[in-house]
Amino acid sequence: MAETKTVHSPLVTYFSMLSLLTLCPPFVILLWYTMVHADGSVCQTWDYLKQHGLQGFINIWPRPTAIAWKIIACYAAFEAALQLLLPGKEVEGPISPEGNRPVYKANGVAAYVVTLVTYLSLWWLWNVRHAASDWFGIFNPSIVYDNLGEIFSALIFGSLVFCVFLYIKGHLAPSSTDSGSSGNMIIDFYWGLELYPRIGKNFDIKVFTNCRFGMMSWAVLALTYCIKQYEQNGKVADSMLVNTILMLVYVTKFFWWEAGYWNTMDIAHDRAGFYICWGCLVWVPSVYTSPGMYLVNHPVNLGLQLALYILAAGILSIYVNYDCDRQRQEFRRTDGKSFVWGRLPSKIVASYTTTSGQKKISLLLTSGWWGLSRHFHYVPEILAAFFWTVPALFNHFLPYFYVIFLTILLFDRAKRDDDRCRSKYGKYWKLYCEKVRYRIVPGIY
Ligand code: NDP
Repeated sequence: MAETKTVHSPLVTYFSMLSLLTLCPPFVILLWYTMVHADGSVCQTWDYLKQHGLQGFINIWPRPTAIAWKIIACYAAFEAALQLLLPGKEVEGPISPEGNRPVYKANGVAAYVVTLVTYLSLWWLWNVRHAASDWFGIFNPSIVYDNLGEIFSALIFGSLVFCVFLYIKGHLAPSSTDSGSSGNMIIDFYWGLELYPRIGKNFDIKVFTNCRFGMMSWAVLALTYCIKQYEQNGKVADSMLVNTILMLVYVTKFFWWEAGYWNTMDIAHDRAGFYICWGCLVWVPSVYTSPGMYLVNHPVNLGLQLALYILAAGILSIYVNYDCDRQRQEFRRTDGKSFVWGRLPSKIVASYTTTSGQKKISLLLTSGWWGLSRHFHYVPEILAAFFWTVPALFNHFLPYFYVIFLTILLFDRAKRDDDRCRSKYGKYWKLYCEKVRYRIVPGIY
């Protein structure tokens, strides 16, 4: 079977693409406003909008300020420099549909450590010198929280411009043969044209947007919320600590496994467009970090025992999610020779044809986590998000938005992935579905 270029779920229609393009930006602002200025209450924001209408909404939309642009520019330049300059082993990505094999520099852990140490050092220097005029007291992370609305607003517009740049680059100067237009401008803008866009030979744009800007901002903002609560209240509530630790464990796991991420759908199948790039540049820093954003002004005291239970359950979920990804990648890396849960793995040897007509073989693991369901790794992913949100308790619905969004995203993704694999592997995928019947939740779905 020939591997198709991009598979779009029939549900994701032209109309829903346009809706997402127009609704996501205002949603980010409303989310921030509700968390920071409306006590996390959707009803309060709704009442305000009912009273003040469109003009009220325009009034709460923060204008991008010079300080917001400065913070974003310094952060982006710092991360881009780390991506380019820090040493790292060369690793190969998976073979693309056109038969190319991208090469990356694996320096994610170093970039993560340097970023967090630099950020915490800046805070320490601020506290030690404690004077705005003092060169060393140049930056307090609290400023990021105080300018969060302006930063999100600048990110919304800046990232849209960036997606236009990707669209033009895809048409005029694609970096590889893994690029192409669907013939429809909206679809091209939304899903992207290039699979592995680069600036020069070495600066991989998707590694920057997804990993070094998006995922890194998650850790940086989690720390920021914690610091802000400390500066506001003189202490950090155990709920905030559990939330921050779990988010940091998750992001640490991500960077530890970053080279593995380069084999996943985001990088190997989804092209660089609004969906993935705007999502990582804006949606990740705002929506993914939102439970922590809520906790800043809503410290909850869980008590040591409950806090530890939630922490343990969250860490276990993150570990299982990591182990699922690790199992699949070890299995592929060793050509199906690595042990899975103490035994030789059971597998399907699936052949397929690339778009350029080359015949290739892939192994599909049918035991271990991948024998429970075809996308079991999404279960612990959703549970981990639940556990870092539950410290907010149940006074408001909004902190749970991310968990609900993630559940919908991953159920849609599992379907998209199944469709893509069916068209890639044909009868072999059918065989896998007969062997492993459930898509995500064993015995249920
Ligand atoms: P993966 O890319 O890791 O897995 C799907 C791919 O693996 C398929 O496209 C197929 O690719 C290959 N594959 C499928 N079945 C098998 C099998 N049985 N044996 C071997 N290979 C198989 O999925 P995701 O990118 O969705 O997930 C990666 C990680 O990212 C997960 O931990 C997930 O939870 C996380 N994630 C988090 C999100 C978030 O927003 N928080 C969003 C999405 C993912 P091939 O063509 O190579 O055969």
